[in-house]
Amino acid sequence: MKKIRTFFVSGIILLLLTIVPIQAHATTYYTYNNHVITWNVENIWYYVDSSVSSYYTYLILRGTDNWVHTGVGYNRLYPLTRTTNISLSAVDFYSYGLQPNTLAITTVYKRVNGQAVAVNPNNENWLFAEIAFDENQMNTYEERLRLVGVVHELGHAWGLAHNPDTHSVMYWNASDMDSSVTGVTSIDNATFNYLYP
Ligand SMILES: [Zn+2]
Repeated sequence: MKKIRTFFVSGIILLLLTIVPIQAHATTYYTYNNHVITWNVENIWYYVDSSVSSYYTYLILRGTDNWVHTGVGYNRLYPLTRTTNISLSAVDFYSYGLQPNTLAITTVYKRVNGQAVAVNPNNENWLFAEIAFDENQMNTYEERLRLVGVVHELGHAWGLAHNPDTHSVMYWNASDMDSSVTGVTSIDNATFNYLYP
């Protein structure tokens, strides 16, 4: 399994990619070579595994809702609905222990002959994403940053790479992220709309 990114690595460096994203648009948009999730973003579902606690299920509800009702402008992500049928899901959430100083990982997959195969998002589009949280490690951070973590990982699932602007929820280093960031920002919504016009 290819772990394409981690969220909240220890101390000062809280966000780390194990595969460096490539800047797709020289001036504004940070993506994985413009690759996207191959799902109609106007009818998308997510699945929450039984390993996820009720508290994190609540944060996932808030994070998915934030991507639909951004407060910073329209995008095509609607509806974004929870399903109990994983075969309908474009984003699957799990909770399990991760390596020390790793709070969350998003991995993207295609399906080949019925099997899920992890893909490098820089090279191709993907069919669905898995987001795994280490709740014990996440809980060492304030609630704002836990929610930011959910929104940030969902951004990766859509194809948003790390953004060097500290006002973006996709900024890679949470300790330097502007403290006003509580979710999707106008930068992030513009990047989504660039990918899914
Ligand atoms: Zn990240």
